[in-house]
Amino acid sequence: MQTYRIAAIPADGIGPEVIAAGLQALEALERRGGGFRLDVTQFDWGSDYYRKHSVMMPADGTEQLKGFDAIFFGAVGAPDVPDHVTLWGLRLPICQGFDQYANVRPTKLLPGIVSPLAGVKPGDLDWVIVRENSEGEYSGHGGRAHRGLPEEVATEVAIFTRVGVTRIMRYAFRLAQSRPRKLLTVVTKSNAQRFGLVMWDEIAAEVSVEFPDVTWDKMLVDAMTVRMTLKPQSLDTIVATNLHADILSDLAGALAGSLGVAPTANIDPERRFPSMFEPIHGSAFDITGKGIANPVATFWTAAQMLEHLGQPQAARRLMHAVETVTGGGVMTPDVGGTATTKEVTDAVCEAIRGSNIVP
Ligand code: NAD
Ligand code: MN
Repeated sequence: MQTYRIAAIPADGIGPEVIAAGLQALEALERRGGGFRLDVTQFDWGSDYYRKHSVMMPADGTEQLKGFDAIFFGAVGAPDVPDHVTLWGLRLPICQGFDQYANVRPTKLLPGIVSPLAGVKPGDLDWVIVRENSEGEYSGHGGRAHRGLPEEVATEVAIFTRVGVTRIMRYAFRLAQSRPRKLLTVVTKSNAQRFGLVMWDEIAAEVSVEFPDVTWDKMLVDAMTVRMTLKPQSLDTIVATNLHADILSDLAGALAGSLGVAPTANIDPERRFPSMFEPIHGSAFDITGKGIANPVATFWTAAQMLEHLGQPQAARRLMHAVETVTGGGVMTPDVGGTATTKEVTDAVCEAIRGSNIVP
């Protein structure tokens, strides 16, 4: 039997609540007899670790993660620790250290969930946003001079490389090609950002030649928010820079009902290192400890993890269970239900146990 080594990093806020729910669903899948086993190791890194050690993870943190098949990540963020510390101290070193350059963010309106967009039904909104995850606006280059003085200057440099843009473009075209509609929208702000993003447009055109069966178009990011809101049916696969896709995917999550249902996978397509799977949302300290965090985003990213590990049947079984449960109205308050995290999780595990068809 195939055994996969999983590193679980629940971290902060509702992270531990949703990761516990996700692990419970994965265990139900294992028991259901998928022909695989998960060997899970828990890491206590995050803001609590920071309060004790002044770092979010040990210096050899990424080294410790190297031998795992995948990383299952909760969220970072605490009221008393600066956001740039939690982000740059844990999540980004993993993404960048393992060159997880493709951040894949599916959005779909699930059965039973009502979109804030009037008249939009399941099927009308079914997108995958591919986010460039290794460079661009989050490459970490910049600086501040004359700190605190009236003449203070700060730079935040976005870096785009031919290698970096070409590989994410190829990934996005290939993904678009694998989906039924074979449709890709390339997002930039190349009217205003004339260097990196004009190169982005040029490379999109070059790579498109390798994928003659993919229909593609270009959008400016501001106009894209309008298209997502007014014509959701016109979109399928979307590729955008680190910053733009970060913003668009929060919007996508909200249009699909809640950030609580939006998953993401940080993938190293070359499989040199472990990839990382996490809900898009943050630590949500406004609802931490209340038992009402929506675990659906975490179930969905667990399905992405199973798919990546080579267990597509278990991934489909998990998503089928989730859709059965949301369709049956068992949902947390963020998507209009009254159920707790535990009730949704128990219902999903029950649906996994009861499912005898593989969709
Ligand atoms: P957030 O995603 O934590 O929460 C935004 C809103 O959505 C809140 O009202 C929250 O209650 C709700 N929400 C989020 N996830 C939910 C879920 N699973 N179920 C129900 N409701 C949910 O974003 P924020 O409030 O801007 O940030 C809180 C902290 O999280 C900050 O410190 C921020 O830096 C951090 N953050 C971390 C990540 C990450 O770890 N990847 C991502 C975003 C924000
Ligand atoms: Mn974000």
